[in-house]
Amino acid sequence: MKKDFLKFACCPECGGDFSIEEFEKSDLEVQEGLLRCSKCGLVFPVIGGVPRILRPEMLTELVAGYPEFSRKYSRQLNGPGGSASNPDVTRSLKVAKMYEYGWSIYSKVAEEYKREFDDVIDGHLTPADFNGKTVLDAGCGMGRFAYFSEGYGAREIVGFDLGEAVVTAYRDTFRDKQNAHFFQGDIYYLPLRKDIFDIVYSIGVIHHLPNPAKGVEALAALVRTGGKIFVWVYGDSVIKYPINTLRYVTLRLPFRAVRFLSFFPALFIYAVNAFYRLAFKFPPTRGMAEHIPFHQYSDRSFAGVWWISQDHLTVPIINYFKQGDLEGWLKTLPLKDTSITSRYPGKAGRSWRFSGVKA
Ligand SMILES: [Zn+2]
Repeated sequence: MKKDFLKFACCPECGGDFSIEEFEKSDLEVQEGLLRCSKCGLVFPVIGGVPRILRPEMLTELVAGYPEFSRKYSRQLNGPGGSASNPDVTRSLKVAKMYEYGWSIYSKVAEEYKREFDDVIDGHLTPADFNGKTVLDAGCGMGRFAYFSEGYGAREIVGFDLGEAVVTAYRDTFRDKQNAHFFQGDIYYLPLRKDIFDIVYSIGVIHHLPNPAKGVEALAALVRTGGKIFVWVYGDSVIKYPINTLRYVTLRLPFRAVRFLSFFPALFIYAVNAFYRLAFKFPPTRGMAEHIPFHQYSDRSFAGVWWISQDHLTVPIINYFKQGDLEGWLKTLPLKDTSITSRYPGKAGRSWRFSGVKA
């Protein structure tokens, strides 16, 4: 953690400023320490260079996973927060754990993620929009999209995720970057000051939340007047029926079994795309090729397709949205110049994006 992070951060409980107690430092980074709220006195640990700003019940569980830290500093931490018994917290944690695993094995397929990022933001944000801006990546995982936003010239970037994938973002993806700040945090318990970011975006996260509207509202509050929010979510299309049927079975199976089983739909999608690429080459069959299902994955590696297949079959929460759902969110938010578009023109229900400027 760089001390500059404190510009953006405040206590998620009372909004008070943090002070930092440093236990271990390297150059400009606090490796181990405590963030203490100057108003209500709550403390949050910095472990492995990453602030862990979670509700007390989740913190207790997290710190238990770092026996050395808890042995050295347990007296300075808050009292025990009890168990993570809130069902929404438990489910959200499961989502985060699943992605931790995914990002740990598919962190290398970078080039296809750049194309994905450009394609997802298309029509709402351009690479030039990031230049010189203060940016928040909400649900950043290992930081793959944050990496490209920084590359597009973001002056400072903040990213958070509920899971430990954020440690990879901090330690590997953004090694040596002085303008990047990552913390482990919960979208419903954010330690961030309101009205400070030029751009807040969230890609592929809101549809995995137990209460999506509340998540969008929390993000919109962080955008400064004149700044922009951008969100991408799954659309409510017929594709949910086969997926939900499969999920009825796969959510009840051990993860390793699903990882094995998801190889077969991945193989199917990959084969279909080989056919798509061939059909697309020749003008007479090009029109037909556009109707081939799953061709939006035609530029993915097999590993990438296999991951998408596992993702859909194992993640505990998937919400599919209609355009009206997004319109409902936008109605309640203080935004102007709003726009809702489909990511796949011609297949409107498949996937939705919205953006808006803070009024
Ligand atoms: Zn406080």
